[in-house]
Amino acid sequence: MTGVVFSIERYALQDGPGIRTLVFLKGCPLNCQWCANPESQSCAPEILYFQNRCASCGRCIANCPQGAIKVDDEFGLITDPDRCMLCGLCVDACYYGARELSGEEMEVCDVMNIIERDKMFYDATQGGVTLSGGEPLLQTAFVRELTRECKERGIHTAIETTLFADKEIVKRALEYIDLVFVDVKHFDPYKHAEFTGVRNELIINNIEMIDNLGKQFIIRIPFIPGVNDDDETQKQIYQWASRLRNLKWIEVLPYHRLGMTKYRGLGRMYPLADVKPVSKQSLTYLKDLGAQIGVDVRIGAH
Ligand code: SF4
Ligand code: SF4
Repeated sequence: MTGVVFSIERYALQDGPGIRTLVFLKGCPLNCQWCANPESQSCAPEILYFQNRCASCGRCIANCPQGAIKVDDEFGLITDPDRCMLCGLCVDACYYGARELSGEEMEVCDVMNIIERDKMFYDATQGGVTLSGGEPLLQTAFVRELTRECKERGIHTAIETTLFADKEIVKRALEYIDLVFVDVKHFDPYKHAEFTGVRNELIINNIEMIDNLGKQFIIRIPFIPGVNDDDETQKQIYQWASRLRNLKWIEVLPYHRLGMTKYRGLGRMYPLADVKPVSKQSLTYLKDLGAQIGVDVRIGAH
């Protein structure tokens, strides 16, 4: 059983309790304008290019057997996805770390080998593994197999998901998951579609379904100026969430632009380049707003 993984981070202290290993899976059905991991959106592996590290030596161009790399005024270099066969020769040829191959097919056992290296840290801190993306539910069989293996070894499992999937897929994927992080980006289906590419009814229904199934979950709201930063939108989400029995808390994530360089690396423009980052301190009033409605609202770090 294989999955397409684009990153594995060890010793993480966010996205669940204790010390964790984060496994990032490629592919997402949404297209959020503020996405911090644009390399996660396509299901297929792809080449990332970091112009700020590039010395313009031309070795990648000379070593590409497909003639897929072209000089570009705006982005420095761009890779033609129709010509690129993902051989990785340009990555090996670059002495400056300016090219990366994002996404690799990995066997469950290979990912487990990495996860198990830190078992003593999970045991000491009640930590574990968090699957993220992209949208892990696009690789349901891989998620099930990996999390089943984790549970057999007594490792805590969490997932970051949009829950934008058929309810039977959600049930199957979450069977061996202890804790779910799910985003609510907007409560209005039309606004949700405008900023993410999909309406939100399926997501809302699936959150209510996992609540009824007794699954523990945390709702995350990416706080994006001009999208959902008004009190009315926040209140709508809090009021609905206050009725959910297995919600642990709501975590509001201040908008940041850390993914901006990756857009350039993929030869794409960042849609929210003019939107200023939001500080954590400026959002503390949302805790009071939540308390008035009867829901625990916390401000996250990213
Ligand atoms: S991965 Fe291979 S085909 Fe693609 S741009 Fe690099 S050298 Fe060319
Ligand atoms: S090999 Fe690396 S440093 Fe040289 S042009 Fe290509 S990306 Fe830039």
